[in-house]
Amino acid sequence: MSETTIEILHRVWGYDAFRSGQEAVIDAAMAGKDSLVLMPTGGGKSICYQVPGIAMDGLCLVISPLIALMKDQIDRLQQKHVPSAALYSGLDRRVQEIILDSAVNGLYKFLYVSPERLRSERFLDRLKYLKISLVAVDEAHCISQWGHDFRPAYQEIGELKYILPDVPFMALTATATLQVQQDIIDCLHLHAPQVQVNSYIRDNLSYSVFKLEGKKEKLVSIIKGANGTGLVYVRSRRKTVELAKFLSSQGIRAGAYHAGMDTVQRTQMQNDWMKGYIQVMVATNAFGMGIDKGDVRFVVHVDLPDDLESYYQEAGRAGRDGKKAYAVLLYDNSDVLNLTERIDTSIPEAEVIRKVYHFLGNYFQLAVGSGKEETFPLSLEAFATYSKINALDIAKAFRWLERMEYLQLNGGMFETSRLQIRVSYAELYEFQLKNELCDPIIKWLLRQFGGELYNNMIFIHEDKIVAAIHTGKSEVIRLLNYMQKSGVVYYAPALDQPSITYLQPRQETETLFVDEVFLEQRKKLLQQKAQAVIHYVSSQSRCRSAQLVEYFGEHNAAVCGICDHCLEHKKKGVLLTEQDILDCLSLETLSIDGLLLKLPQGNETDILDFLRLLEDKELIVREGLSWKLKT
Ligand code: ADP
Ligand code: MG
Repeated sequence: MSETTIEILHRVWGYDAFRSGQEAVIDAAMAGKDSLVLMPTGGGKSICYQVPGIAMDGLCLVISPLIALMKDQIDRLQQKHVPSAALYSGLDRRVQEIILDSAVNGLYKFLYVSPERLRSERFLDRLKYLKISLVAVDEAHCISQWGHDFRPAYQEIGELKYILPDVPFMALTATATLQVQQDIIDCLHLHAPQVQVNSYIRDNLSYSVFKLEGKKEKLVSIIKGANGTGLVYVRSRRKTVELAKFLSSQGIRAGAYHAGMDTVQRTQMQNDWMKGYIQVMVATNAFGMGIDKGDVRFVVHVDLPDDLESYYQEAGRAGRDGKKAYAVLLYDNSDVLNLTERIDTSIPEAEVIRKVYHFLGNYFQLAVGSGKEETFPLSLEAFATYSKINALDIAKAFRWLERMEYLQLNGGMFETSRLQIRVSYAELYEFQLKNELCDPIIKWLLRQFGGELYNNMIFIHEDKIVAAIHTGKSEVIRLLNYMQKSGVVYYAPALDQPSITYLQPRQETETLFVDEVFLEQRKKLLQQKAQAVIHYVSSQSRCRSAQLVEYFGEHNAAVCGICDHCLEHKKKGVLLTEQDILDCLSLETLSIDGLLLKLPQGNETDILDFLRLLEDKELIVREGLSWKLKT
């Protein structure tokens, strides 16, 4: 008998049970149905497609917008000995060919692709030969213009549904308003999808907001009070370092993390924090993706985030283990101004975009019409000097050109070396005998990755080899290159330098399409989102948790009882009034349990007394076990 889905969860992940909602969508996929999955970040969306992907015959195609996210997933699957690979622009052609061939030969269970790869002829050619069991569209909100992270290439995934009419599609996202949900269903042509919406409420997370001068001192007292590991988010790289220094001077083990640090430093920092050597990590929003640490006791934002989507996501890294945790936001008046200003200048002028594009082509000496799929190393500083455009404008224009799929930036930061064995077991053994120096490396690799090494490009970290076999780094790299030259392995060393890939041939600058209406719309949308942040921090009158989840479309949520607002309410010993009950019932019909959840104060007896009184006054009526306003 074949393995059941729960058996797969036990065997591959070692987990006891499915989380709420997971089983329903897994069953839907197995039954060949389309689905839309809305679960908060950290809710466990990956398992929703990975379990059926393993259970079903064939290949699960996963579309994901970010190379870093793909690599993280592949890394994890490979560790669990589930053969999988990723395809994205900027990967060298030879690697792409090997991966596609391996996919056709049925070597993988999962193939992650970036959306613009779907259009490549090489990919479409091979698609007919792939036996696809399930298509998972991760971060599906990218498909919608109303989402916070719209990517035009996502809209073309819908085409795939026509090419693969009999394959179930699963769209997954953490942040989708009703409008965005409908957009996803429409653009992907989902057929009668099973919609699974999990609540955004986090019972164990206490939200609070402090408006004050002297954030640093407050931060210290929060950290000393919270006891345990935490994260502090700031906006700038410089601030991560400054604040970490300050915290250290206060006797707190703190570290700094930002995207400008080199890979080795970043990995080191991250590991030190994961292991608890560092208590508090002060980081930019570059920190956190793919990080899986249960016992984070607090997340403090020292600057205002751009939108509540990012806030919820970052704050939500606290308390994954289900134990009480704190999400604190500190701000002052200048932060509100900074946020508005930041948003106003975040969208570059169309002219600047054109100018950056033009100089970039000249910089690489690319003729118009050439350059497609070519990758060039790029130093932002050198290009800024060359073009005389300021670095911030360049960065903004790049982001936009990337969104419009003219270019793709490959931060050197996430590039990891890859390796695959290209000879038979016997040939490898013979090579080991003849090359004693390579022997410990090969042995270590086989111990780590086993048979995977034969049929998969594995991400490897040379530093780990260095540590394991006690040989210098340059020697390890020399030996790996030697193995590559001898033909026993395919070894592609990491590119530790940022680079840029032309996704389309260089265009005439004058005809470069820059959608100005869209730029304008985008700006409005970002402004609205910033306003929602400002509203959240300045509102004194409502439960924070209820406010946040309402933003994600959950109306009439119960008060949490543990946020700053609810606690303040309790502390004041505010007594229950008739009006409180009438207010609650004016929104919906509620049972006694419903009322207990919604009212921060009062116990069952008090509430029942009031209900009787209000019934007598003929202001409310009973309906079964519930009460409603009398109309
Ligand atoms: P999302 O994509 O929704 O943000 P992930 O898929 O990355 O979340 O999952 C977050 C974490 O929860 C991962 O460490 C994952 O292994 C874990 N997880 C998911 N499902 C379960 C489960 N049923 N039991 C225990 N842990 C789970
Ligand atoms: Mg995810």
